[in-house]
Amino acid sequence: MVMGKAPGADRGTGGPTGLETEATAGAGWTASSAGPSVPRSALLPVYPPFPIRPVRGHGSWLVDEDGHEWLDAYGGHAVASTGHSHPHVVRAIAEQAATLLFYSTAVPSPLRERLAERLAGSCPDPLERVFFCNSGAEANENALHLARKATARTRVVSVLGGWHGRTAATLACTDGVRYEQAATRSGIPLSTRVAADDVAALERAVDGSVAAVILEPVQGLSGARDLSEDFLRAARRVCDASGTALIFDEVQCGAGRCGAFTAAEAVGVVPDVLTLAKGLASGLPIGAVVATPAITAGIGTGDLGSTFGGGPVACAAALATLDVIEREGLIENAIRVGERLAGGARALGVRRVSGRGLLLGLHLDRPAAEVQRALLGRRMITGTASDPSVLRLLPPLSFSEAEADLLLGGLKEVLA
Ligand code: PMP
Repeated sequence: MVMGKAPGADRGTGGPTGLETEATAGAGWTASSAGPSVPRSALLPVYPPFPIRPVRGHGSWLVDEDGHEWLDAYGGHAVASTGHSHPHVVRAIAEQAATLLFYSTAVPSPLRERLAERLAGSCPDPLERVFFCNSGAEANENALHLARKATARTRVVSVLGGWHGRTAATLACTDGVRYEQAATRSGIPLSTRVAADDVAALERAVDGSVAAVILEPVQGLSGARDLSEDFLRAARRVCDASGTALIFDEVQCGAGRCGAFTAAEAVGVVPDVLTLAKGLASGLPIGAVVATPAITAGIGTGDLGSTFGGGPVACAAALATLDVIEREGLIENAIRVGERLAGGARALGVRRVSGRGLLLGLHLDRPAAEVQRALLGRRMITGTASDPSVLRLLPPLSFSEAEADLLLGGLKEVLA
């Protein structure tokens, strides 16, 4: 049996161009985008190449191979919450790595305990039971698992425009034909979808057969679309009436991005389960499920688990991230700078700005990808969305007013 290929054998150059994934649609790239050519690689070609090669980062800035500085209003897809390589976070990671890199999550860890306490204290009551994993999709997968176990039901209701991950169960409630097909290939029944802000549709869809309603209070990929408070309150009401679990996917909009530590707090609606990931550890992989005592009452040894989830280095990074968010007032900063960006964009003629805090969607009168490309020409990085007219901004929560003005200056030239 031949196990390898002859040197130089064709590995295939392409894969689809114009690929739309949360990672790639968010970045807005297609493989045909101008930029440095990427050498053939052993990696599957699932990500169109992003036309910048950062080698260093500090604060809201990336530095490329040629020493050029790029203003990052994309934040590595909402991950660089405290800015790039914040010294306090880097120190915490280095010290923990040098002390104890890892041991099995089956043994107690004071760091994991501390992080769980801090998350419980940072999420609205009664969200106080925590499970750690490694990514957003995994957090949502476990949230669905909790809801199905607690309710002994299987059906899920989700919202059009929602994006929840790439595990089989999360694909089944992620909006988009590609994702639905992937879930169907895995044999997972698709969720029932309701249109965003359609209270009547939600009322019709949620009954005593539904385990969970899952939604992003501020939808990321669909263009920083903030669901109406009426709709979110209705979700709480119909879930209460039918004994259904309400899950807020705050993987992108949580961890201080949308005006409070959780978007739930910002909108004044408390779910039964809330998921966090992306910005929670400033760049180390982590996912967290924060749930009520009621929904987790039946959970015992062996019901959930993860080899790496809640490992010491990720926990140290998350604790340091929470320190920085608190000490540097990053939630207040995100509100202030978000308002400046939104106001500045409106003054430039942007017809609508959606979102909250520093998860903003600029609704343009032309393709956002063109504007994004022109901004890249000025070494400014922004994101796009599944709505082609929306430019998405998800910079570090430490983005300064001066940096906001720089970005607005670039936008002014591009939109002129
Ligand atoms: N939910 C939302 C709202 C997201 O934005 C993402 C990632 N873009 C996920 C879930 C999945 O997270 P991960 O890629 O860490 O699995």
